[in-house]
Amino acid sequence: MAEPDKPGTRWRRGACHCRAVQFEVRAPEQVEVEDCNCSICRRTGFLHLIVPLSDFRLLSGEDALTSYRFNTGAANHTFCRVCGVKAFYTPRSNPDGVSVNARCFDDGEAPELLVTPFDGVNWEANAASLAHKTAQPISQP
Ligand SMILES: [Zn+2]
Repeated sequence: MAEPDKPGTRWRRGACHCRAVQFEVRAPEQVEVEDCNCSICRRTGFLHLIVPLSDFRLLSGEDALTSYRFNTGAANHTFCRVCGVKAFYTPRSNPDGVSVNARCFDDGEAPELLVTPFDGVNWEANAASLAHKTAQPISQP
């Protein structure tokens, strides 16, 4: 099914390190991403680009994905079982979306990243601020 175009955005490719897991995400030229300090994100250096499912496609590697859950178990931390890289996962804040690791874009594919600190240590108090980032280009009102 053809996806409707969104003005100012394009599909951008990324992958895990061994390239078993390849994806593309529809994003504008400039996006806000969260640098989270929670127990898992600070260890992995994950930069969150949170998008709705309609802006994400898994191109390959479904069979290479395994997952890790902890605490409430709400987040499904998918990662490549070959190379260990977590290229994207299903976040607790947006179970109907995907959080893409903005560090996993291929060369020349990454949008400009506006990195915002996110206090994931106090997740309950802050989660409401985590919304999908590609619904509109940031430059639009
Ligand atoms: Zn891999």
